[in-house]
Amino acid sequence: MIQIKNYINGNLVESVSRQWLDNIAPATGKIYSQLPDSDEQDVAMATQAAKAAFSTWSNLSAEKRGDFLIEISNRILKKLDFLAHAESMDSGKPLWLAKQTDIPRSASNFKFFGTGIQHFASESHYMEETAINYTLRRPIGIAGCISPWNLPLYLFTWKIAPALAAGNTVVAKPSELTPLTAFYLSEICKEAGLPPGVLNIVHGLGAKVGASIVKHPEIPIISFTGGTKTGEEIARTASPMFKKLSLELGGKNPFIVFNDATMEDAVNTAIRASFTNQGQICLCGSRLFVQHEIYETFKNEFLKKVEAIQVGNPFDEKNFMGALVSKQHLEKIESYVQLAKEEGGKILTGGYRVKLSGEFNEGYYYRPTVIEGLSFQCRTNQEEIFGPVVTLQPFDTEEEVLEYANSTMYGLASSIWTNDVKRAHRMAEKIKTGIVWVNCWMLRDLRTPFGGMKSSGIGREGGWEALRFFTEPKNVCIKL
Ligand code: NAD
Repeated sequence: MIQIKNYINGNLVESVSRQWLDNIAPATGKIYSQLPDSDEQDVAMATQAAKAAFSTWSNLSAEKRGDFLIEISNRILKKLDFLAHAESMDSGKPLWLAKQTDIPRSASNFKFFGTGIQHFASESHYMEETAINYTLRRPIGIAGCISPWNLPLYLFTWKIAPALAAGNTVVAKPSELTPLTAFYLSEICKEAGLPPGVLNIVHGLGAKVGASIVKHPEIPIISFTGGTKTGEEIARTASPMFKKLSLELGGKNPFIVFNDATMEDAVNTAIRASFTNQGQICLCGSRLFVQHEIYETFKNEFLKKVEAIQVGNPFDEKNFMGALVSKQHLEKIESYVQLAKEEGGKILTGGYRVKLSGEFNEGYYYRPTVIEGLSFQCRTNQEEIFGPVVTLQPFDTEEEVLEYANSTMYGLASSIWTNDVKRAHRMAEKIKTGIVWVNCWMLRDLRTPFGGMKSSGIGREGGWEALRFFTEPKNVCIKL
């Protein structure tokens, strides 16, 4: 049984209370590790360590901080297979996906910000013959970083790397459902010689550890990725304390296919956008809008490919989909499919659990599911399901599809398929999402602003946006 430890002041330690939580492998439904059930005492110790480390870390040159981050990046890559296996075991995601995306991207996050900080510059505003202003950007203090279970190490490091690069120290909490690779990251940081207290990782439940980080008076910055409801709760605590907040929340993303789209590309990408990581990516396209003329052709091609998807043991490379993250999440997916039926939806394919044999017979598997015949306003089309369930809806005009696409409270990402450049520009301008992909999906350049509008969040991550978030700008005006 693996025993996960907190990483506080450079040491791997149990929680103060010595209580543990069970960690279940979604592929088998069996307990295979334990994590500390930490509370505010552990967060207080981590914050104390981060406070003590701040002065030295923030005064290191950007180059020296960058070197530590690049060293961590290299060490992640050296352990790629080991970490990918752990990620797959912990989350139920296919091993091929963890190897191809999660772990390489975690290494890139450290490398990107470790090098980026060395090029980071601030603005200067010259007032002719009067004065010169310059913006001094300095690290703020301790950053609280809280991340979800769907892309565990990938999203955890996406926050930690820019916070550290900018010169802050960090108290971080991974999801209690997927703590394993964050634990291995603490071992990597120790091996890389990261000074004690610079990064502290506290494991446990959101309501205890997460909430303690958010309300701690000595943590002035909170970077959170997770559900919109949790984001609301965090904002309620952090806003009156005037903390700097970045919230990356839920989505209900439209995937829009016009008559003139290249059909094969659109169908293949719709498969990836709908079902990669069992549909558990905030950027997944869960509402597929297809223009009338090509609706039936698209539907038939799409369904053929959905039915060919193999679901099963995440360690078997032939399976495109593995297990859902938890029993509770599986039950949530089932309840939404039930709701879709009650709302008058027709299940075109899927809509049921997959029962495997042998050691996987208690795992959380679900067939990719496609539903049609629902109104764009119904709950199935308005609420985030966050699983392998998508709806298909026909449309006639640009205006109509914009109304459908923009009708939810979310505004994270969209994918638009057309070969008409003017239409692509018109749609990109009018659609209310923070990220617009045209003839592609999840093509990521780490320099671009990443985040959502409306209930999908506040602020942007990525590139200079992240480094600006993790620094405090101060205008200095010098009279000439
Ligand atoms: P969640 O909100 O339940 O949990 C996210 C993290 O917050 C976990 O570490 C959890 O322990 C912690 N937490 C829970 N309650 C807390 C509280 N009261 N105070 C502080 N922390 C608390 O989300 P989840 O189920 O882990 O993740 C799925 C959600 O994340 C989906 O809604 C998905 O869309 C969203 N997500 C968004 C993005 C994005 O970039 N916008 C990326 C990935 C996932």
